[in-house]
Amino acid sequence: KETSAKESNVAKIKVVVRKRPLNKKEISRKEEDIVSVHENSYLTVHEPKLKVDLTAYVEKHEFAFDAVIDEHISNDEVYRVTVEPIIPTIFKHTKATCFAYGQTGSGKTFTMKPLPLRAVEDILRLLRQPSYFNQRFKLWLSYFEIYGGKLFDLLSDRRKLCMREDGRQQVCIVGLQEFEVSDVRIVNEFIEKGNSARSTGSTGANEESSRSHAILQLAIKKHKEIIDTRRQNDSNDAKSGKVIGKISFIDLAGSERGADTTDNDRQTRIEGAEINKSLLALKECIRALDNDQIHIPFRGSKLTEVLRDSFVGNSKTVMISCISPNAGSCEHTLNTLRYADRVK
Ligand code: ADP
Ligand code: MG
Repeated sequence: KETSAKESNVAKIKVVVRKRPLNKKEISRKEEDIVSVHENSYLTVHEPKLKVDLTAYVEKHEFAFDAVIDEHISNDEVYRVTVEPIIPTIFKHTKATCFAYGQTGSGKTFTMKPLPLRAVEDILRLLRQPSYFNQRFKLWLSYFEIYGGKLFDLLSDRRKLCMREDGRQQVCIVGLQEFEVSDVRIVNEFIEKGNSARSTGSTGANEESSRSHAILQLAIKKHKEIIDTRRQNDSNDAKSGKVIGKISFIDLAGSERGADTTDNDRQTRIEGAEINKSLLALKECIRALDNDQIHIPFRGSKLTEVLRDSFVGNSKTVMISCISPNAGSCEHTLNTLRYADRVK
């Protein structure tokens, strides 16, 4: 009863901004916190600037979003604001996506990591309800990454994957391992395993994951009695039944990486161009979705192609834009907020 009332109120697209606290390094450098959050829905960035005569002044930038989460808010509360309301919809043929966008170090992974865990708890609870239990619904988990435009399975030794469309607008990732989840405890292990398998770059802390998009998917499927194991990786239907709905949790590449297109290193430039392309394509797809456009430009990048079935039909999108509060990150913070602003 309560669920259905909530469900009908779930917006198709929700844009949420999360500000992290200043870290120890920033505090020791006496960096200023230039982001102030008001009434959980808007914020002001106080940009430090210099006049031509070198006198300092502050330029204020105001932004409003569906929700703005300040540095005192827990991950549990973030879950309640972002993912919890859309969980019941994925039992009703909805494809949901939750993105974390922002510069490296802004809190994307910190924010995303606990969300699938909480989602699995809620999904398993709903699956035990008689109406779903009797329909033989099962929950499946997969975790892969897009790196330099290529797909890798994070739960099977970074096996290279390829994508195929099945003619019914369903995306099939050939070879992707899926695991049935019937106990929440195992999910943490999957997440840890997947996270440690993410791409490793060359330099600096946090470098590893900043150039790839990590995609964790939870799918509810209607279980078939007969499973043909020979074709188990051939199609989702053959393996474990028809997909009822799904939710994807996407820890996007660091948004500043899209600007690496003039780097001296060729590989870095190629990756930068790919990231730039995918983040632009993502914005265009979400905007098209918001405007109820019939043509969704999902072919713009591997990321949006993979998410194709999440941009058609019943879909729900939550964008969590993560921002750093320190003065030194001001330019990146403004870029992130402008991106989030354009999405809405
Ligand atoms: P990203 O994935 O965007 O590169 P991380 O999630 O790794 O960034 O966060 C960078 C650092 O900041 C990590 O040490 C993380 O624990 C910390 N952090 C991020 N967000 C918060 C927060 N809201 N509260 C406390 N610490 C945070
Ligand atoms: Mg990260």
